[in-house]
Amino acid sequence: MLTNPAPANRIVNMNDRLCIRNGRLVLRERIEKNKSLFMARGKIVDIAKNTKTPLKEFKTIDARGLYVSPGLIDIHVHGLFADRIGRLEEDDLRRMCGQMAKAGITGFLATTVSLPTQALLKATNTAKSFVKNNPDTNLLGLHLEGPYLNPSARGAQNNNYLRIFKADDLKKIFSAADGLIKIMTFAPECKNGVKLLAFLVKHGIVPAIGHSQATYKEVKECAKKGLKHVTHLFNAMPGFDHSEPGLIGAALDLKRLTFDIIADGIHVHPASVKFVIKTKGVDGVILISDNVYKMRLPDGRLAGSVLNLNQAVKNVMKFADIDLQDAVKMATINPAKLLGIQDRKGSLQVGKDADIVIFDDNLKVKYTIIKGNIVTPLL
Ligand SMILES: [Zn+2]
Repeated sequence: MLTNPAPANRIVNMNDRLCIRNGRLVLRERIEKNKSLFMARGKIVDIAKNTKTPLKEFKTIDARGLYVSPGLIDIHVHGLFADRIGRLEEDDLRRMCGQMAKAGITGFLATTVSLPTQALLKATNTAKSFVKNNPDTNLLGLHLEGPYLNPSARGAQNNNYLRIFKADDLKKIFSAADGLIKIMTFAPECKNGVKLLAFLVKHGIVPAIGHSQATYKEVKECAKKGLKHVTHLFNAMPGFDHSEPGLIGAALDLKRLTFDIIADGIHVHPASVKFVIKTKGVDGVILISDNVYKMRLPDGRLAGSVLNLNQAVKNVMKFADIDLQDAVKMATINPAKLLGIQDRKGSLQVGKDADIVIFDDNLKVKYTIIKGNIVTPLL
């Protein structure tokens, strides 16, 4: 039954081996019942029919009545990164990772806001050393949102720190990051914007357009040059117009582009969420939290969040009238594909990382497992 059964004479480390029984497995195309999922050494090693009794050599979670889903991936979370960015410590990141895990997030990109280069460098260095010291963390890397954004579409970004792209500045940050930066959101219609696009493509960073007033034609040109993604569709960009479809029209029309959306029912009307998902198709849409919650109030108490990704998954099922497996895709395999890590993450498949979230019918998280380690037992 097992892909690699342990030799009988070997002392088995139970912590190494985990089995989730009796749950409803959220696969890419369907939900499967009566299956067990086996994990060893941080990977999924088998998906098989339930045995009558649990296998002794595996620590077992009984997920009866619960969903067993690939862990969620959030490519746009500010959290402490926005709040404490100039004085960020590794402990802040540790707390942020724990908070993310509680929402079922097994992978996320800490997202910066527009700041002076020195502050971005400091945050980058802290994140780099944190990841080095915590190789099994759910912090997958960084998303730089700004500072090369259009001041006329700045949204909540600080106008004082928006500026024109200079290769020297960004080179400093990239070399400090040592591969940790995965996505950059920018406005290509601004001065040097197209140079910046080429710079991102050259460095293997996903170029995403956002906080932008680019025309449909400008976006189409950029898509030919490697632009991949649109950040928080509808927010911080002009509305759709029949004679100038703009960024929204381009995001919906161009196959090369994916987009993400904040499905809290406030940033974007539920009917608009439904409309764009039906138009683009489930595979082209990613859910993000764009979470800006303060982890701690001034008196030190922990504070709750504005939107968590598990809630976004639940919302989008209702808003767009879609199945759970389709909503889950938008928060798992779709972001994994954008980041180019779909061979390791984003779905329940043998050989992939054992990144799992177990939730109930209300998408309330019961367990979060990162690389085979149970990090959030909330039962
Ligand atoms: Zn933004």
